[in-house]
Amino acid sequence: MALSGVEIFKLLPKTNCKKCGHPTCLAFAMKLAQRQATLDLCPDVSEEAKKILGEASAPPIRPITIGAGDKAVKMGEETVLFRHDKKFVNPCVFAVEVKDTSTEGDIAAVCEQVMKSEIDRVGQKLRIDAIVISNVSGDASKLEAAAKTVAAKAAPVPVIINTTNPQAAEAAVKLFAGKKPVIYGANSSNIEAMAAVAKDSKASLGIIAADLDELAGLTEKVKALGVEDIVMDSGAKTAKEIIANNTLIRRAAIKKNFKPFGYPVINFVQRDDSMLEALLATVCVAKYSSIVVLSSVEKWKNLALFTLRQNIYTDPQVPMQVEQKIYSLGDVKPESPLFITTNFSLTYFIVSGEIENSKVPSRLAVMDSEGLSVLTAWAAGKFTATKIAQFINDSGIEKEVANKELIIPGYVAILSGSIEEKLPGWKITVGPREANAIPTFLKSRA
Ligand code: SF4
Repeated sequence: MALSGVEIFKLLPKTNCKKCGHPTCLAFAMKLAQRQATLDLCPDVSEEAKKILGEASAPPIRPITIGAGDKAVKMGEETVLFRHDKKFVNPCVFAVEVKDTSTEGDIAAVCEQVMKSEIDRVGQKLRIDAIVISNVSGDASKLEAAAKTVAAKAAPVPVIINTTNPQAAEAAVKLFAGKKPVIYGANSSNIEAMAAVAKDSKASLGIIAADLDELAGLTEKVKALGVEDIVMDSGAKTAKEIIANNTLIRRAAIKKNFKPFGYPVINFVQRDDSMLEALLATVCVAKYSSIVVLSSVEKWKNLALFTLRQNIYTDPQVPMQVEQKIYSLGDVKPESPLFITTNFSLTYFIVSGEIENSKVPSRLAVMDSEGLSVLTAWAAGKFTATKIAQFINDSGIEKEVANKELIIPGYVAILSGSIEEKLPGWKITVGPREANAIPTFLKSRA
């Protein structure tokens, strides 16, 4: 069970030394209880207390990484039921299934689609993250052959080996040594042998159960067999079952600290009807799935799912921001125009996109406005003449431009006079109100 703030307080040194960044041990204890602080911030906590508190403060859903290198993905580590309480931590993984009954060419084609699935959306790289290799044939040698194709054609992509046959799993998993694969397919009849393969190969183990009671028993058993990295399939197939089971699992793990359910959840949503499959996948994204297995890679489906996942896993309390700096768009010269805007990600990407569309190399000064858009930042006093002048002066851009001209967003035309006063020697030009007018604006100046 989770410890209360007072119970945690009793285990702390109670010196109120403030080294943890909190005014008192009690304040720190309260933050620990709410999972808003980590125990390592207190350097003086005893070893005994560390042991007790370490277990109590561990995330209720175990973090698990699959894959290695740039494309490795982390799952779990969630601490809340609702993202308005706190950000959801690790975005769910989208995986696509290949079957060992398919031809080598067909499997290679899916691998290529996965490798090319990456898109850039407001500065984040989004892609199909993993490949599930399914032993549909029931033949160990066919699974191994399919795994070889995936290992050769999609080497950096994390894999999930889907078989209930421990020997087949053992042969296939060897091809992904050091790449932290998942072996999926442990059930009540093969659990010891599958756990042994997962332990030897340092793979995570995917457990499938007929219902939640059986699932809880199997995760405990696997843990006792020495495998800690577990992925759970409750057997839910329909949207209704997925919502019910995933919610119950998440609630039990977070609210009751029920350890047998403290692992990431995998859901298989493959359907012949792509629209239905996409719809089921959205349910999984919205309701606590950590791995969503799809039947195919399709660009329209990717776009819809990537966008939903990005939105669900974005902190609703913190606007998306880009770094404050002066960005060069195109092959800029000293005489290239200089725009300024705020650091709200969407604002930056829309404005920079329109500048790039214009094909006129330009500089874009992006000022930290705590992620607010232009008008909101101006209204909140974060995009003022004084702050703009200070940013431009501190940036040193004056030495790189031939003409000291700053183009401000049309929405804050009212600031032009006061910026000119605070930036002597600079000409302030009022640009368009809407970003889509930037190309015309730039061409009219040519
Ligand atoms: Fe208390 Fe430890 Fe924080 Fe010091 S660092 S105030 S002892 S919790």
